[in-house]
Amino acid sequence: MSILNENISRAEQYLERFGQTGVLNHIAGKCQSALSGDTIETVSPVDLSTLAPVARGTGADIDLAVSAAQEAFLDWSKRSGKERRAILHRVADAIEERAEEIAFCECMDTGQALRFMSKAALRGAANFRFFADQAPSAEDGAALRTPEQMNVTSKRPIGPVGVITPWNTPFMLSTWKIAPALAAGCTVVHKPAEFSPITAKLLVEIAEEAGLPPGVLNVVNGLGEEAGRALTEHKGIKAIAFVGESHTGSRIMAQGAATLKRVHFELGGKNPVIIFDDADIDRAVEAAAFMIYSLNGERCTSSSRLLVQDTIYDEVCERVADIAGRIKVGHPLDPETVVGPLIHPEHECKVLSYFDKARAEGATIAVGGDKIGDAGCYVSPTLFTHAKNDMVIAQEEIFGPVLTAIPFADEQDAVSIANDVPYGLAAYLWTNDLTRAIRMTDALEAGMMWVNSENIRHLPAPFGGVKASGIGRDGGSWSFDFYMETVNVCFPRKVHNPPNLAR
Ligand code: NAD
Repeated sequence: MSILNENISRAEQYLERFGQTGVLNHIAGKCQSALSGDTIETVSPVDLSTLAPVARGTGADIDLAVSAAQEAFLDWSKRSGKERRAILHRVADAIEERAEEIAFCECMDTGQALRFMSKAALRGAANFRFFADQAPSAEDGAALRTPEQMNVTSKRPIGPVGVITPWNTPFMLSTWKIAPALAAGCTVVHKPAEFSPITAKLLVEIAEEAGLPPGVLNVVNGLGEEAGRALTEHKGIKAIAFVGESHTGSRIMAQGAATLKRVHFELGGKNPVIIFDDADIDRAVEAAAFMIYSLNGERCTSSSRLLVQDTIYDEVCERVADIAGRIKVGHPLDPETVVGPLIHPEHECKVLSYFDKARAEGATIAVGGDKIGDAGCYVSPTLFTHAKNDMVIAQEEIFGPVLTAIPFADEQDAVSIANDVPYGLAAYLWTNDLTRAIRMTDALEAGMMWVNSENIRHLPAPFGGVKASGIGRDGGSWSFDFYMETVNVCFPRKVHNPPNLAR
Protein backbone atom coordinates (compact mmCIF):
# COMPACT_ATOMS: atom_id res chain seq x y z
CA MET A 1 0.00 0.00 0.00
CA SER A 2 1.33 3.50 -0.79
CA ILE A 3 1.95 5.90 2.08
CA LEU A 4 -1.00 7.97 0.89
CA ASN A 5 -3.36 5.00 0.92
CA GLU A 6 -2.10 3.96 4.34
CA ASN A 7 -2.69 7.49 5.63
CA ILE A 8 -6.17 7.60 4.12
CA SER A 9 -7.08 4.35 5.77
CA ARG A 10 -5.75 5.54 9.15
CA ALA A 11 -7.66 8.80 8.76
CA GLU A 12 -10.83 6.85 8.03
CA GLN A 13 -10.35 4.91 11.26
CA TYR A 14 -9.93 8.12 13.26
CA LEU A 15 -12.94 9.73 11.62
CA GLU A 16 -15.24 6.73 11.72
CA ARG A 17 -16.70 7.52 15.13
CA PHE A 18 -17.63 11.04 14.07
CA GLY A 19 -19.48 9.60 11.09
CA GLN A 20 -21.45 7.44 13.51
CA THR A 21 -22.11 9.76 16.47
CA GLY A 22 -21.68 13.09 14.75
CA VAL A 23 -19.64 15.98 16.14
CA LEU A 24 -21.55 16.68 19.33
CA ASN A 25 -21.39 19.65 21.64
CA HIS A 26 -19.40 19.16 24.83
CA ILE A 27 -20.87 20.86 27.88
CA ALA A 28 -19.99 20.29 31.54
CA GLY A 29 -18.01 17.19 30.62
CA LYS A 30 -20.81 15.60 28.59
CA CYS A 31 -21.25 15.05 24.88
CA GLN A 32 -24.65 16.19 23.74
CA SER A 33 -26.62 16.94 20.62
CA ALA A 34 -27.95 20.45 20.08
CA LEU A 35 -31.06 20.92 22.20
CA SER A 36 -33.06 21.46 19.02
CA GLY A 37 -31.73 18.17 17.62
CA ASP A 38 -30.69 20.04 14.46
CA THR A 39 -27.44 19.35 12.68
CA ILE A 40 -25.27 20.82 9.95
CA GLU A 41 -22.62 18.84 8.07
CA THR A 42 -18.89 19.04 7.87
CA VAL A 43 -17.67 18.21 4.40
CA SER A 44 -14.19 17.14 3.38
CA PRO A 45 -12.76 19.46 0.74
CA VAL A 46 -10.83 16.48 -0.64
CA ASP A 47 -13.87 15.05 -2.41
CA LEU A 48 -16.85 16.91 -0.90
CA SER A 49 -17.94 13.80 0.98
CA THR A 50 -19.74 14.35 4.29
CA LEU A 51 -17.41 13.58 7.19
CA ALA A 52 -20.01 13.93 9.93
CA PRO A 53 -23.20 15.63 11.02
CA VAL A 54 -22.42 18.43 13.46
CA ALA A 55 -24.60 19.72 16.30
CA ARG A 56 -26.22 23.00 15.25
CA GLY A 57 -26.10 24.82 18.56
CA THR A 58 -28.19 27.91 19.21
CA GLY A 59 -28.81 30.29 22.09
CA ALA A 60 -30.22 27.53 24.31
CA ASP A 61 -27.04 25.45 23.99
CA ILE A 62 -24.93 28.53 24.65
CA ASP A 63 -27.01 29.20 27.81
CA LEU A 64 -26.21 25.70 29.06
CA ALA A 65 -22.53 25.98 28.25
CA VAL A 66 -22.24 29.40 29.90
CA SER A 67 -23.92 28.05 33.06
CA ALA A 68 -21.41 25.19 33.08
CA ALA A 69 -18.52 27.62 32.59
CA GLN A 70 -19.84 29.88 35.38
CA GLU A 71 -20.10 27.01 37.81
CA ALA A 72 -16.69 25.62 36.92
CA PHE A 73 -15.17 29.10 37.25
CA LEU A 74 -15.89 29.11 41.01
CA ASP A 75 -13.46 26.24 41.48
CA TRP A 76 -11.00 26.63 38.57
CA SER A 77 -10.26 30.30 39.26
CA LYS A 78 -9.42 29.46 42.87
CA ARG A 79 -7.04 26.61 42.12
CA SER A 80 -3.43 27.56 42.64
CA GLY A 81 -1.42 28.52 39.59
CA LYS A 82 0.83 25.54 40.25
CA GLU A 83 -2.13 23.18 40.08
CA ARG A 84 -3.36 24.71 36.85
CA ARG A 85 0.16 24.48 35.47
CA ALA A 86 0.35 20.77 36.29
CA ILE A 87 -3.01 20.01 34.66
CA LEU A 88 -2.23 22.02 31.54
CA HIS A 89 1.12 20.24 31.13
CA ARG A 90 -0.76 16.94 31.29
CA VAL A 91 -3.04 18.27 28.55
CA ALA A 92 0.06 19.06 26.48
CA ASP A 93 1.40 15.53 27.02
CA ALA A 94 -1.93 14.07 25.92
CA ILE A 95 -2.03 16.27 22.80
CA GLU A 96 1.42 15.01 21.85
CA GLU A 97 0.31 11.41 22.34
CA ARG A 98 -2.60 11.94 19.94
CA ALA A 99 -0.72 14.18 17.50
CA GLU A 100 -1.24 11.87 14.54
CA GLU A 101 -4.98 11.61 15.11
CA ILE A 102 -5.27 15.39 15.43
CA ALA A 103 -3.18 15.96 12.30
CA PHE A 104 -5.04 13.41 10.16
CA CYS A 105 -8.48 14.68 11.22
CA GLU A 106 -7.37 18.27 10.61
CA CYS A 107 -6.12 17.42 7.10
CA MET A 108 -9.39 15.75 6.14
CA ASP A 109 -11.60 18.43 7.70
CA THR A 110 -9.68 21.47 6.39
CA GLY A 111 -7.68 20.29 3.36
CA GLN A 112 -4.42 21.50 4.90
CA ALA A 113 -1.42 19.40 3.90
CA LEU A 114 0.01 16.87 6.33
CA ARG A 115 3.54 18.24 5.94
CA PHE A 116 2.33 21.34 7.83
CA MET A 117 -0.44 19.81 9.96
CA SER A 118 1.84 17.12 11.41
CA LYS A 119 3.38 19.97 13.39
CA ALA A 120 0.07 21.63 14.29
CA ALA A 121 -0.63 19.36 17.23
CA LEU A 122 2.90 19.82 18.51
CA ARG A 123 2.53 23.58 18.20
CA GLY A 124 -0.74 23.24 20.13
CA ALA A 125 1.01 21.31 22.88
CA ALA A 126 3.79 23.91 22.97
CA ASN A 127 1.15 26.62 23.43
CA PHE A 128 -0.28 24.74 26.42
CA ARG A 129 3.17 24.34 28.00
CA PHE A 130 4.21 27.94 27.38
CA PHE A 131 1.10 29.44 28.95
CA ALA A 132 0.91 26.79 31.70
CA ASP A 133 4.34 27.89 32.91
CA GLN A 134 3.03 31.40 33.46
CA ALA A 135 0.05 30.27 35.56
CA PRO A 136 1.86 30.37 38.94
CA SER A 137 2.86 34.03 38.46
CA ALA A 138 -0.26 35.14 36.59
CA GLU A 139 -1.75 36.94 39.61
CA ASP A 140 1.44 38.85 40.41
CA GLY A 141 1.51 42.61 40.26
CA ALA A 142 3.51 45.55 41.52
CA ALA A 143 3.94 47.46 44.78
CA LEU A 144 3.78 51.20 44.08
CA ARG A 145 4.83 53.22 47.12
CA THR A 146 4.68 56.85 48.20
CA PRO A 147 5.64 58.06 51.70
CA GLU A 148 1.94 58.00 52.62
CA GLN A 149 0.64 54.89 50.92
CA MET A 150 1.42 51.61 49.32
CA ASN A 151 -0.56 50.53 46.24
CA VAL A 152 -0.49 46.82 45.57
CA THR A 153 -1.67 45.56 42.22
CA SER A 154 -2.68 42.02 41.45
CA LYS A 155 -4.52 40.27 38.66
CA ARG A 156 -7.53 38.06 38.75
CA PRO A 157 -9.21 36.04 36.02
CA ILE A 158 -11.96 37.99 34.29
CA GLY A 159 -14.52 35.14 34.35
CA PRO A 160 -15.96 32.76 31.77
CA VAL A 161 -14.82 33.81 28.29
CA GLY A 162 -15.95 32.99 24.75
CA VAL A 163 -13.43 31.81 22.15
CA ILE A 164 -14.52 31.93 18.50
CA THR A 165 -12.15 30.46 15.95
CA PRO A 166 -11.81 30.20 12.14
CA TRP A 167 -11.20 27.19 9.91
CA ASN A 168 -7.75 27.73 8.50
CA THR A 169 -5.60 26.00 11.13
CA PRO A 170 -8.29 25.40 13.74
CA PHE A 171 -6.49 23.18 16.26
CA MET A 172 -3.40 25.33 16.60
CA LEU A 173 -5.38 28.57 16.69
CA SER A 174 -7.78 27.25 19.32
CA THR A 175 -4.97 26.27 21.66
CA TRP A 176 -3.43 29.69 21.13
CA LYS A 177 -6.55 31.23 22.71
CA ILE A 178 -7.76 28.51 25.07
CA ALA A 179 -4.43 27.69 26.76
CA PRO A 180 -3.76 31.21 28.13
CA ALA A 181 -7.41 31.61 29.15
CA LEU A 182 -7.24 28.41 31.20
CA ALA A 183 -3.81 29.24 32.60
CA ALA A 184 -5.16 32.62 33.74
CA GLY A 185 -7.98 30.87 35.64
CA CYS A 186 -10.80 31.60 33.21
CA THR A 187 -13.26 29.01 31.98
CA VAL A 188 -14.13 28.82 28.30
CA VAL A 189 -17.01 28.34 25.91
CA HIS A 190 -15.50 27.60 22.50
CA LYS A 191 -17.43 28.06 19.24
CA PRO A 192 -15.35 26.46 16.49
CA ALA A 193 -15.77 27.31 12.81
CA GLU A 194 -18.65 25.44 11.21
CA PHE A 195 -16.40 24.31 8.32
CA SER A 196 -13.88 22.54 10.62
CA PRO A 197 -15.35 21.39 13.94
CA ILE A 198 -13.62 18.04 14.45
CA THR A 199 -10.36 18.88 16.22
CA ALA A 200 -12.13 21.19 18.70
CA LYS A 201 -14.02 18.12 19.88
CA LEU A 202 -10.76 16.17 20.10
CA LEU A 203 -9.18 18.95 22.15
CA VAL A 204 -11.88 19.04 24.82
CA GLU A 205 -11.88 15.25 25.10
CA ILE A 206 -8.11 15.10 25.36
CA ALA A 207 -8.07 17.89 27.93
CA GLU A 208 -10.66 16.22 30.16
CA GLU A 209 -9.01 12.82 29.91
CA ALA A 210 -5.81 14.54 31.04
CA GLY A 211 -7.53 15.95 34.13
CA LEU A 212 -9.16 19.23 33.13
CA PRO A 213 -12.30 19.41 35.30
CA PRO A 214 -15.68 19.25 33.49
CA GLY A 215 -17.14 22.62 32.60
CA VAL A 216 -13.77 24.39 32.44
CA LEU A 217 -13.73 24.01 28.66
CA ASN A 218 -17.05 23.66 26.81
CA VAL A 219 -17.63 23.43 23.08
CA VAL A 220 -20.77 24.53 21.28
CA ASN A 221 -20.84 23.97 17.53
CA GLY A 222 -23.03 25.79 15.09
CA LEU A 223 -23.29 28.73 12.75
CA GLY A 224 -21.69 32.09 13.44
CA GLU A 225 -24.99 33.93 13.20
CA GLU A 226 -26.62 31.53 15.68
CA ALA A 227 -24.30 29.96 18.27
CA GLY A 228 -21.54 32.54 17.67
CA ARG A 229 -23.86 35.50 17.99
CA ALA A 230 -25.51 34.09 21.15
CA LEU A 231 -22.10 33.65 22.76
CA THR A 232 -21.07 37.23 22.02
CA GLU A 233 -24.36 38.56 23.38
CA HIS A 234 -24.43 36.47 26.56
CA LYS A 235 -24.18 38.49 29.77
CA GLY A 236 -22.41 35.64 31.57
CA ILE A 237 -19.46 35.86 29.16
CA LYS A 238 -16.97 38.53 30.15
CA ALA A 239 -14.75 38.65 27.08
CA ILE A 240 -14.58 37.33 23.54
CA ALA A 241 -11.33 36.17 21.98
CA PHE A 242 -12.02 36.06 18.27
CA VAL A 243 -9.94 35.01 15.28
CA GLY A 244 -11.53 35.49 11.89
CA GLU A 245 -12.43 38.02 9.24
CA SER A 246 -12.32 41.75 9.91
CA HIS A 247 -15.97 42.36 9.08
CA THR A 248 -17.01 39.53 11.45
CA GLY A 249 -14.90 41.22 14.12
CA SER A 250 -16.79 44.44 13.67
CA ARG A 251 -20.11 42.58 13.89
CA ILE A 252 -18.96 40.88 17.10
CA MET A 253 -17.98 44.23 18.57
CA ALA A 254 -21.49 45.53 17.89
CA GLN A 255 -23.12 42.36 19.24
CA GLY A 256 -21.08 42.56 22.43
CA ALA A 257 -21.68 46.25 23.01
CA ALA A 258 -24.85 45.84 25.06
CA THR A 259 -23.04 43.66 27.59
CA LEU A 260 -19.81 45.71 27.44
CA LYS A 261 -17.73 42.77 26.26
CA ARG A 262 -13.98 42.99 26.30
CA VAL A 263 -12.76 41.89 22.87
CA HIS A 264 -9.51 40.57 21.49
CA PHE A 265 -9.43 40.38 17.71
CA GLU A 266 -7.04 38.64 15.36
CA LEU A 267 -8.39 39.51 11.94
CA GLY A 268 -7.49 39.57 8.28
CA GLY A 269 -4.36 40.71 6.48
CA LYS A 270 -3.01 41.71 3.09
CA ASN A 271 0.60 41.49 4.08
CA PRO A 272 3.42 42.82 1.93
CA VAL A 273 6.74 41.09 1.37
CA ILE A 274 9.03 43.89 0.23
CA ILE A 275 12.16 42.95 -1.69
CA PHE A 276 14.87 45.55 -2.40
CA ASP A 277 17.52 44.94 -5.04
CA ASP A 278 20.25 44.78 -2.40
CA ALA A 279 18.60 41.76 -0.76
CA ASP A 280 19.64 38.13 -0.83
CA ILE A 281 17.33 37.35 -3.73
CA ASP A 282 17.55 33.55 -3.47
CA ARG A 283 16.32 33.56 0.11
CA ALA A 284 13.79 36.33 -0.46
CA VAL A 285 12.18 34.43 -3.35
CA GLU A 286 11.93 31.22 -1.34
CA ALA A 287 10.50 32.99 1.69
CA ALA A 288 7.95 34.89 -0.40
CA ALA A 289 6.80 31.66 -2.06
CA PHE A 290 6.70 29.84 1.28
CA MET A 291 4.60 32.51 2.97
CA ILE A 292 1.89 32.43 0.31
CA TYR A 293 1.86 28.83 -0.90
CA SER A 294 2.25 27.03 2.44
CA LEU A 295 -0.94 26.30 4.42
CA ASN A 296 -2.87 26.71 1.14
CA GLY A 297 -2.37 30.47 1.45
CA GLU A 298 -5.18 30.26 4.02
CA ARG A 299 -3.06 32.01 6.54
CA CYS A 300 -3.60 35.38 8.17
CA THR A 301 0.11 36.23 7.99
CA SER A 302 0.54 35.09 4.38
CA SER A 303 2.67 37.38 2.23
CA SER A 304 -0.10 38.02 -0.24
CA ARG A 305 1.40 41.15 -1.87
CA LEU A 306 4.85 40.81 -3.40
CA LEU A 307 6.36 44.30 -3.61
CA VAL A 308 9.56 44.17 -5.66
CA GLN A 309 11.97 46.94 -6.57
CA ASP A 310 11.50 47.64 -10.28
CA THR A 311 15.16 46.86 -11.06
CA ILE A 312 14.63 43.19 -10.11
CA TYR A 313 10.86 42.87 -10.58
CA ASP A 314 10.91 40.65 -13.70
CA GLU A 315 13.59 38.35 -12.31
CA VAL A 316 11.85 37.89 -8.94
CA CYS A 317 8.45 37.32 -10.57
CA GLU A 318 9.92 34.71 -12.92
CA ARG A 319 11.54 32.88 -10.05
CA VAL A 320 8.43 32.93 -7.85
CA ALA A 321 6.35 31.77 -10.83
CA ASP A 322 8.81 28.95 -11.41
CA ILE A 323 8.40 27.74 -7.80
CA ALA A 324 4.61 28.13 -7.95
CA GLY A 325 4.45 26.10 -11.14
CA ARG A 326 6.43 23.24 -9.58
CA ILE A 327 4.56 23.03 -6.26
CA LYS A 328 2.80 19.73 -5.71
CA VAL A 329 -0.94 20.16 -5.37
CA GLY A 330 -2.70 17.07 -4.12
CA HIS A 331 -4.34 15.02 -1.43
CA PRO A 332 -3.61 16.57 1.98
CA LEU A 333 -2.52 13.21 3.42
CA ASP A 334 0.12 12.71 0.73
CA PRO A 335 3.39 13.58 2.51
CA GLU A 336 4.64 15.19 -0.73
CA THR A 337 1.69 17.58 -1.04
CA VAL A 338 2.33 21.28 -0.44
CA VAL A 339 -1.03 22.71 -1.48
CA GLY A 340 -4.16 20.74 -0.59
CA PRO A 341 -7.77 21.56 -1.41
CA LEU A 342 -9.23 24.83 -0.09
CA ILE A 343 -11.53 24.52 2.88
CA HIS A 344 -14.95 24.48 1.22
CA PRO A 345 -16.62 24.99 -2.18
CA GLU A 346 -17.91 28.40 -1.02
CA HIS A 347 -14.40 29.59 -0.24
CA GLU A 348 -13.04 28.00 -3.42
CA CYS A 349 -15.62 29.97 -5.39
CA LYS A 350 -14.46 33.18 -3.71
CA VAL A 351 -10.80 32.47 -4.52
CA LEU A 352 -11.58 31.53 -8.15
CA SER A 353 -13.55 34.76 -8.59
CA TYR A 354 -10.31 36.72 -8.21
CA PHE A 355 -8.89 35.14 -11.37
CA ASP A 356 -11.59 36.85 -13.42
CA LYS A 357 -11.19 40.05 -11.41
CA ALA A 358 -7.43 40.03 -12.11
CA ARG A 359 -8.02 39.66 -15.86
CA ALA A 360 -10.73 42.32 -15.84
CA GLU A 361 -8.44 44.75 -14.00
CA GLY A 362 -5.65 44.22 -16.52
CA ALA A 363 -3.22 42.18 -14.41
CA THR A 364 -1.40 39.20 -15.91
CA ILE A 365 -1.78 35.68 -14.58
CA ALA A 366 1.87 34.61 -14.77
CA VAL A 367 1.17 31.13 -13.44
CA GLY A 368 -1.86 29.22 -12.14
CA GLY A 369 -5.27 30.81 -12.25
CA ASP A 370 -7.17 27.53 -12.61
CA LYS A 371 -9.28 25.09 -10.71
CA ILE A 372 -7.68 21.64 -10.78
CA GLY A 373 -9.88 18.61 -11.48
CA ASP A 374 -13.60 18.25 -10.92
CA ALA A 375 -13.74 16.70 -7.46
CA GLY A 376 -12.51 18.60 -4.43
CA CYS A 377 -11.57 22.24 -3.95
CA TYR A 378 -8.16 22.20 -5.66
CA VAL A 379 -6.80 25.49 -6.99
CA SER A 380 -3.42 25.97 -8.64
CA PRO A 381 -0.79 28.16 -6.95
CA THR A 382 -1.15 31.50 -8.70
CA LEU A 383 0.89 34.63 -9.32
CA PHE A 384 -0.59 37.86 -10.66
CA THR A 385 1.94 40.25 -12.19
CA HIS A 386 1.73 43.78 -13.60
CA ALA A 387 -0.65 44.60 -10.80
CA LYS A 388 -1.31 47.98 -9.25
CA ASN A 389 -2.07 48.49 -5.60
CA ASP A 390 -5.51 49.97 -6.20
CA MET A 391 -6.70 46.77 -7.89
CA VAL A 392 -9.10 44.54 -5.97
CA ILE A 393 -6.51 41.73 -6.14
CA ALA A 394 -4.11 43.96 -4.18
CA GLN A 395 -6.62 45.31 -1.68
CA GLU A 396 -8.78 42.35 -0.64
CA GLU A 397 -7.77 39.32 1.37
CA ILE A 398 -8.09 36.40 -1.08
CA PHE A 399 -7.02 33.79 1.51
CA GLY A 400 -5.77 31.24 -1.00
CA PRO A 401 -2.49 30.33 -2.74
CA VAL A 402 -2.65 33.53 -4.75
CA LEU A 403 0.05 36.21 -4.83
CA THR A 404 -0.16 39.69 -6.33
CA ALA A 405 3.17 41.18 -7.49
CA ILE A 406 3.56 44.97 -7.67
CA PRO A 407 6.73 46.88 -8.62
CA PHE A 408 8.03 49.85 -6.62
CA ALA A 409 10.67 52.45 -7.38
CA ASP A 410 12.25 53.37 -4.07
CA GLU A 411 11.82 53.27 -0.30
CA GLN A 412 9.13 55.94 -0.18
CA ASP A 413 7.16 54.24 -2.92
CA ALA A 414 7.47 50.86 -1.15
CA VAL A 415 6.18 52.30 2.13
CA SER A 416 3.26 54.08 0.52
CA ILE A 417 2.18 50.97 -1.41
CA ALA A 418 2.69 48.70 1.60
CA ASN A 419 0.58 50.92 3.88
CA ASP A 420 -2.15 51.63 1.34
CA VAL A 421 -4.51 48.81 2.44
CA PRO A 422 -7.04 48.66 5.26
CA TYR A 423 -5.04 45.92 6.98
CA GLY A 424 -1.88 45.96 9.09
CA LEU A 425 -1.10 42.48 10.36
CA ALA A 426 2.38 41.50 9.17
CA ALA A 427 5.10 42.79 6.85
CA TYR A 428 8.20 41.07 5.53
CA LEU A 429 11.23 43.10 4.49
CA TRP A 430 14.22 41.94 2.48
CA THR A 431 17.24 44.25 2.35
CA ASN A 432 20.87 44.05 3.39
CA ASP A 433 20.98 47.74 4.25
CA LEU A 434 20.57 48.03 8.01
CA THR A 435 19.70 51.72 8.10
CA ARG A 436 17.10 51.18 5.40
CA ALA A 437 15.64 48.31 7.45
CA ILE A 438 15.33 50.62 10.45
CA ARG A 439 13.72 53.40 8.38
CA MET A 440 11.33 50.96 6.74
CA THR A 441 10.25 49.16 9.91
CA ASP A 442 9.64 52.55 11.54
CA ALA A 443 7.37 53.54 8.66
CA LEU A 444 5.46 50.32 7.94
CA GLU A 445 1.98 49.96 9.40
CA ALA A 446 1.97 46.39 10.69
CA GLY A 447 1.76 44.76 14.10
CA MET A 448 4.51 42.27 13.24
CA MET A 449 7.48 42.58 10.91
CA TRP A 450 10.13 40.13 9.91
CA VAL A 451 13.40 41.38 8.39
CA ASN A 452 15.17 38.93 6.07
CA SER A 453 13.07 35.93 7.06
CA GLU A 454 9.67 34.39 6.72
CA ASN A 455 7.29 34.29 9.69
CA ILE A 456 9.10 32.52 12.50
CA ARG A 457 7.00 32.44 15.61
CA HIS A 458 8.60 33.03 19.01
CA LEU A 459 5.97 32.47 21.72
CA PRO A 460 7.26 35.14 24.13
CA ALA A 461 6.96 37.79 21.36
CA PRO A 462 3.69 39.69 20.81
CA PHE A 463 1.37 38.57 18.01
CA GLY A 464 -1.37 40.78 16.58
CA GLY A 465 -2.24 43.43 14.07
CA VAL A 466 -2.98 47.14 13.65
CA LYS A 467 -5.69 48.87 11.58
CA ALA A 468 -8.35 46.39 10.38
CA SER A 469 -6.14 43.43 11.35
CA GLY A 470 -6.93 43.33 15.00
CA ILE A 471 -7.12 44.60 18.52
CA GLY A 472 -4.86 43.30 21.26
CA ARG A 473 -1.79 41.09 21.40
CA ASP A 474 -1.24 37.43 22.12
CA GLY A 475 1.93 35.73 23.26
CA GLY A 476 4.29 36.42 26.14
CA SER A 477 2.32 37.82 29.04
CA TRP A 478 0.11 39.88 26.70
CA SER A 479 -2.50 37.12 26.56
CA PHE A 480 -2.87 37.32 30.34
CA ASP A 481 -3.59 41.05 30.17
CA PHE A 482 -6.68 40.14 28.18
CA TYR A 483 -7.94 37.25 30.29
CA MET A 484 -7.31 38.99 33.63
CA GLU A 485 -8.41 42.16 35.41
CA THR A 486 -5.80 44.26 37.19
CA VAL A 487 -6.91 45.30 40.67
CA ASN A 488 -5.25 47.90 42.89
CA VAL A 489 -5.43 47.95 46.69
CA CYS A 490 -4.16 50.98 48.56
CA PHE A 491 -2.79 50.69 52.15
CA PRO A 492 -1.79 53.65 54.32
CA ARG A 493 1.87 53.68 55.34
CA LYS A 494 1.18 56.09 58.19
CA VAL A 495 -1.93 57.12 60.04
CA HIS A 496 -4.17 58.72 57.50
CA ASN A 497 -6.61 61.52 58.42
CA PRO A 498 -9.44 61.78 55.88
CA PRO A 499 -10.74 65.28 55.11
CA ASN A 500 -13.48 66.23 57.61
CA LEU A 501 -16.24 67.90 55.65
CA ALA A 502 -18.04 69.17 58.77
CA ARG A 503 -15.08 71.10 60.08
P1 NAD B 1 -15.09 34.16 9.80
O1 NAD B 1 -14.97 35.53 10.37
O2 NAD B 1 -16.04 33.93 8.69
O3 NAD B 1 -15.48 33.10 10.93
C1 NAD B 1 -14.71 32.95 12.09
C2 NAD B 1 -15.60 32.44 13.20
O4 NAD B 1 -16.57 33.44 13.52
C3 NAD B 1 -16.39 31.18 12.86
O5 NAD B 1 -16.41 30.33 13.99
C4 NAD B 1 -17.78 31.72 12.58
O6 NAD B 1 -18.80 30.78 12.81
C5 NAD B 1 -17.85 32.86 13.57
N1 NAD B 1 -18.84 33.89 13.26
C6 NAD B 1 -19.27 34.31 12.05
N2 NAD B 1 -20.19 35.28 12.19
C7 NAD B 1 -20.34 35.49 13.52
C8 NAD B 1 -21.15 36.38 14.29
N3 NAD B 1 -21.99 37.24 13.73
N4 NAD B 1 -21.04 36.33 15.64
C9 NAD B 1 -20.19 35.47 16.24
N5 NAD B 1 -19.42 34.60 15.55
C10 NAD B 1 -19.49 34.62 14.21
O7 NAD B 1 -13.60 33.75 9.39
P2 NAD B 1 -13.13 32.44 8.62
O8 NAD B 1 -13.57 32.60 7.20
O9 NAD B 1 -13.54 31.26 9.41
O10 NAD B 1 -11.54 32.55 8.74
C11 NAD B 1 -10.75 33.26 7.84
C12 NAD B 1 -10.38 34.63 8.39
O11 NAD B 1 -9.69 34.50 9.64
C13 NAD B 1 -9.43 35.39 7.50
O12 NAD B 1 -9.85 36.72 7.39
C14 NAD B 1 -8.10 35.32 8.23
O13 NAD B 1 -7.19 36.34 7.94
C15 NAD B 1 -8.56 35.36 9.65
N6 NAD B 1 -7.51 34.84 10.53
C16 NAD B 1 -6.80 35.74 11.29
C17 NAD B 1 -5.76 35.30 12.10
C18 NAD B 1 -4.94 36.28 12.89
O14 NAD B 1 -4.23 35.85 13.77
N7 NAD B 1 -5.01 37.56 12.62
C19 NAD B 1 -5.46 33.94 12.16
C20 NAD B 1 -6.20 33.06 11.37
C21 NAD B 1 -7.24 33.52 10.57
